Amino acid sequence: MLSSLRLTTDLRTAVAGGELSVAYQGQYDLGATAETGDTLAAVPASVEALCRWRHPEQGPISPEVFIPLAERGGFLDEVDGYVFSRAAEQISEWRDGGHDVGFAVNVSPAHFSSRYADAVMIRLDELDLDPAALTVEITEAPLPQLRAPMLSAIESLHQAGVTISVDDFAASDTTVAMLESLPIDEVKLDRSLTQRVDAAADDAIATVVETSAGHGWRVVAEGIETIADLARAVARGCDRGQGYLWGMPLTADAMSGVLRGVGPAAV
Ligand code: C2E
Ligand code: MG
Ligand code: MG
Repeated sequence: MLSSLRLTTDLRTAVAGGELSVAYQGQYDLGATAETGDTLAAVPASVEALCRWRHPEQGPISPEVFIPLAERGGFLDEVDGYVFSRAAEQISEWRDGGHDVGFAVNVSPAHFSSRYADAVMIRLDELDLDPAALTVEITEAPLPQLRAPMLSAIESLHQAGVTISVDDFAASDTTVAMLESLPIDEVKLDRSLTQRVDAAADDAIATVVETSAGHGWRVVAEGIETIADLARAVARGCDRGQGYLWGMPLTADAMSGVLRGVGPAAV
């Protein structure tokens, strides 16, 4: 295995050389009364854009490994910027082709700034993309440390109609009460919470769903792997679901097939 230092250097080269790619994973509407079969057959309402890196010697490296390297190396904003641009172009192409699909990108809150918010709005405008088509997912963990300039960038995107999502919500350090003061539109339940079957998880999710209903936030259940996970997410009142039950993150070509209804069926 290569050292972190070497991997970071190689990652910098890959970013500069345009060697990263983007995979897309569907997010599906879960009508509270939907039959599981109908939900599985549906086309995605939105897709999450996930960064991919194939190292020339080591092959695919997980984002769980390279995202922290880019963060520590101080160039995660370049990675996030690349994924946003690539995904925005792709979504524009799909929407021009008649597919009414939204997209979500992951952004480290540490890089939120008015410059970031302006760049996003300019690019959406250039591509003639409705800001409502975009969701920006910010990770739950650092929320309590959000500083004023980051909050104002989030606020300006939210005001412009971009959906602001809190990713990986696991009912641990961040409480629902902490979310209430933020200009958000969506909460994504971490798979560690979605997959729990105990009464405490039911209660935690009920609190999120009730609070979200009061604020008009969407609740997305991540990590739906089985029919039982799906049925639980529907019973718990989640609005959307994402997970391996529908399929793995796909290349743009493979996702085009899914949108046309001819791609890989649910796994
Ligand atoms: P995330 O944003 O929570 O994305 C969901 C992750 O869960 C993805 O992992 C996805 O492949 C995986 N996943 C989806 N469905 C299931 C399921 O049913 N079961 C399980 N066990 N996993 C599922 P991935 O692509 O490896 O990304 C990991 C994390 O890396 C992401 O978590 C996100 O925090 C980060 N990441 C990925 N791309 C980017 C990016 O462009 N920018 C930033 N800042 N972070 C990124
Ligand atoms: Mg995410
Ligand atoms: Mg997540």
